[in-house]
Amino acid sequence: MNYNRLTSKHKNSLREMVSKDRFSTGESNLNLHSKDQSHHPPSMPEAVIWPVDRFEVSEILKYANKNLIPITGWGSGSSLEGNPIPVRGGIVLDFSQMNRIIDIREKDFQADVEPGVIYQDLNEKLKYSGLFFPPDPGARATIGGIIANNSSGTRTVHYGSAKDYVMRLSVVLADGSYIKTGTRASKTSSGYDLIHLLVGSEGTLGIVVEATLKLTGLPQELSAAIATFPNITDAGKAVYQIRRYGLDPAALELLSTECIELINNKKGLGLTAAPTLFIEFHGPSVTYLSEALKMAQEICNDSGCTEFRSGLGRDERDRLFEARHELAEMIFQNHPDCNVQILDVAVPITGYTSMISKAREITDAAGLTGYALSHAGDGNIHLCLAGKKGNRKDWDLIDKISHEMVAEALSLGGTATGEHGVGIGKKQYMADEHGDSLEWMKKIKKLFDPNHILNPGKMF
Ligand SMILES: Cc1cc2nc3c(=O)[nH]c(=O)nc-3n(C[C@H](O)[C@H](O)[C@H](O)COP(=O)(O)OP(=O)(O)OC[C@H]3O[C@@H](n4cnc5c(N)ncnc54)[C@H](O)[C@@H]3O)c2cc1C
Repeated sequence: MNYNRLTSKHKNSLREMVSKDRFSTGESNLNLHSKDQSHHPPSMPEAVIWPVDRFEVSEILKYANKNLIPITGWGSGSSLEGNPIPVRGGIVLDFSQMNRIIDIREKDFQADVEPGVIYQDLNEKLKYSGLFFPPDPGARATIGGIIANNSSGTRTVHYGSAKDYVMRLSVVLADGSYIKTGTRASKTSSGYDLIHLLVGSEGTLGIVVEATLKLTGLPQELSAAIATFPNITDAGKAVYQIRRYGLDPAALELLSTECIELINNKKGLGLTAAPTLFIEFHGPSVTYLSEALKMAQEICNDSGCTEFRSGLGRDERDRLFEARHELAEMIFQNHPDCNVQILDVAVPITGYTSMISKAREITDAAGLTGYALSHAGDGNIHLCLAGKKGNRKDWDLIDKISHEMVAEALSLGGTATGEHGVGIGKKQYMADEHGDSLEWMKKIKKLFDPNHILNPGKMF
């Protein structure tokens, strides 16, 4: 597709659609919107606009569509796969000023929000009603970004991912028209499910301007444990057995020795430097939780666990999970002269042990430091590999490892990306993963966005 560069005539027209201070072609603003948190190279937009309502979004999209100007949505820019990088230039729509919590209907467990709301801010407000929005990607992410990437996090094993919490969406389409889809009822059998088409579409089908989110009750009680294993394979076996025996952890995270060493260094937690499971249960009573923990301990012991610490108090649990959430950031900081590639494969739970063992094997054979941190209960593995910036040899090796890992995940019936999205880096695997259905995805894209102005250069 041949896009038009923004001329001064375009810029003047666009500037008139919003107030002066919400349109920028300034170098620092363009720079800030040229890169996310991934290793992918930056690419500058030609303008950044901060819309404040759906009418502005409609007017901008209508104009961009007519003039063949790329439009890329922007939440917090915390993606890990280049998802919001405006690789074809054009306009970035930054939603930080569309950040109103419009309505909380606590008796229906629902909230209507604008896309720029940060999920931690929403949860802070909700806690007084005893409710929360469970998807918890580690970074300070927006609801728009979470919906577009179908994000998840440490609690997904129990609570599900973003797609399970979106009931209704208001969306501006590529030609500037506006639709509402979904329902406030907790179930529906009516019509095609456009919600689940739009969730995870990475801003390539439409721009979300409002969402009705499903909320859930904060757990009455929670309890956490850590289990240490002599090797990653035994830890993987314990993960499988915990799921197999029907225990329903609220978090089941596996961290490799390298991760534990890093956490100890940065946070002084004094954990045993070995593959470690962080386990959490949420439930209605202390009795229920102690039963679940007792059973988890037996399963871990049977799988070769060398140390099991349960009954962690709230403070200790918070410290552990805070360290877990900050781990990706710690890895970035630990390698200031490197870029970090974060693999995101996910496999059916039966394949988890062989996948995590394979990750260990491949990184050891390559002689690279690899940090394996894993939403283990979901069969989702992040293998973080640091390569020196601009060092072809490191990056050829990392590419080779990525291909091997993805090929293994697909052969096990899994996916190249469990939660980070396709963005730039996973496009190359779409044909292998989706086969003939990829053509139907392309047809859907063409139907929604015939001029390919929405987040071009992504997904396909
Ligand atoms: C330290 C760290 C830890 C992370 N941990 C996790 C994790 O555990 N799980 C996980 O899933 N992710 C994780 N991530 C990735 C990232 O935080 C999530 O993908 C997050 O949901 C992105 O939200 P954002 O607001 O930053 O969106 P952005 O990165 O700004 O954008 C994401 C996508 O959404 C599109 N978009 C933004 N707003 C709109 C809109 N209104 N309408 C349509 N499209 C829009 C963008 O174009 C882009 O394609 C992590 C990232 C970091 C840096």
